This record gives sequence, C-alpha cells and structure tokens, in this order.
Amino acid sequence: MTLFSLEGKRALVTGANTGIGQAIAVELARAGAYVLCAGRRSCAQTVDEIQKVGAHGESVFLDFADPMAGAKNIAAYGELDILVNNAGIIRREDSLEFSEEDWDAVLDVNLKALFFTTQAFAKQLVARKSRGKVVNIASLLSFQGGIRVPSYTASKHGVAGVTKILANEWAAKGINVNAVAPGYIATNNTEALRDDPVRSAEILSRIPAGEWGKPEHIAGTAVYLSSAAADYVHGAILNVDGGWMAR
Ligand code: NAP
Repeated sequence: MTLFSLEGKRALVTGANTGIGQAIAVELARAGAYVLCAGRRSCAQTVDEIQKVGAHGESVFLDFADPMAGAKNIAAYGELDILVNNAGIIRREDSLEFSEEDWDAVLDVNLKALFFTTQAFAKQLVARKSRGKVVNIASLLSFQGGIRVPSYTASKHGVAGVTKILANEWAAKGINVNAVAPGYIATNNTEALRDDPVRSAEILSRIPAGEWGKPEHIAGTAVYLSSAAADYVHGAILNVDGGWMAR
C-alpha cells in the first residue's frame, strides 16, 4: 500500500454529482476508498464513472436546503474516515443591490452546512477513537475580494477560518482539517464568467498556466489531503490555481 492509498477507507463527498465534487469522488474511489457521493440530485453519473475505473461507491441524497441536513443524516452513512465538504453555491450581484436572500442562501450552504456536517463527522470519529480527514473546498476568494460576489467571498473567507480553528482544536485528536483553494475552474459555478468575454479575457490573462482549470486538476490534491501522506498537515489551504496567487 502506498502513502497515498485510501484502501479500506469510507469517504463522503458533498455535491458529488458534477464539477469538482464529481472529479474528487472518482479519484478518491480510484485511490481505494468506498465513496458516498452526496447530492441534492442523483449522483448516478458519478457512480458510473467510479465503476468504470473498477472502484466502488454509491449515491446518497443530501440537500443543504436545510444546512443541518448533513449533521442530521451522518449516522445513516455508517462509519466514515474522510469528509470532503465540496457543495457550494455562488450568487452574483452588485454589492449595492445584494439581497438578504442571496446572502443567507450562500452562507447557509457554503459555511453553516460545512461547519455542522464537519462537527457531526468529528463527533463520530471521537466517539470511536478513530483518525479522520476533512478536506474543505475553499477558493481564491478565501484570500481575495472578488467582484459582485459578497456573500460568496464572506463564506469562503469563513471556510479558511473554520479550517484553521478546527485544525487547532482537533489536530491532537488525529483529525486533519485542511482545504484546497481552486483557481478558476470550468464548471457550472463559473459559467457566467466564461460567458462574459471581458471578464473571461481578464481572468485568463492573469493565469500563469494560460488556461482555465479542469475539475480533475483539483482531485489529486484532495486525494493527498485524505491520505496518510498528509498525516502531519493541519490547517493548510493549498492553492491549485494555475499560478494565480503567485502573480
Ligand atoms: P458546481 O458545478 O456548481 O458544483 C457545486 C455542487 O454543489 C453541485 O453538486 C451542486 O449540486 C452542489 N450543491 C449546491 N447547492 C446544494 C445544496 N443545497 N445541497 C447539496 N448540494 C448542493 O461548481 P463547482 O465549481 O464544481 O463547485 C464545487 C466547489 O468548488 C464549491 O464549493 C465552489 O465554491 C468551489 N470552487 C469552485 C471554483 C471554480 O472555479 N469552479 C473555484 C473555487 C472554489 P447541483 O448540481 O444540484 O446544483
């Protein structure tokens, strides 16, 4: 078994039906984990991809319309070793016009659901005296302001902060809490940007790698942070951004 093997582990990936979550679910499974692919829609396509590479997983229903849904359901998922908090939404509007509804919706899914799902996962680990790994999906907007996305930026700065406090509290319990900060990745989340020729050109011109990222670019870092290779990594936020933050 290599340092990066996830053989014998059970993982839950939220928002695993598409985009970055789908790519992470497939790679965790390929690395040996049994992956519970959680979505508010069916993750059948992800499970198909997992089976195509000879790996194992299943689709489970999880809708953060109730941000406490992960915490309420976690017992039904059996004993988990890895939690990837990937589900996330974005709402775009000038800050002068931004609505309370768009503020609350984004904070609920991106931050409140993430915290309480993670809390429930950690309680499970502590009760059975097991080690575990949490991988949060942060963003470049965990560090930068962005434009027209105030609730998203607040939520992702929050994800970075929560990653650090939980690492401080739980490292000694053998629970690793880390995050990946993806750059600009071609998914549903960034469709509006890619459809705007001005914003799209501005963004592309600042990416040293010279291209938008793909969901697969994020998956390997999630496998690493879920594996024994990251046993001494706590509270890290790893940029996977084609060099964006180096500019
Ligand atoms: P995406 O394709 O829009 O995927 C988002 C996932 O979250 C989908 O599976 C979505 O389900 C799920 N989700 C949304 N609301 C949910 C809810 N109420 N309950 C359960 N699941 C819900 O976008 P993505 O780019 O892959 O995003 C994945 C993560 O990466 C997000 O946290 C996002 O903020 C982060 N991220 C993305 C980028 C980027 O450039 N794309 C950059 C930095 C960070 P549905 O398909 O049903 O909507």
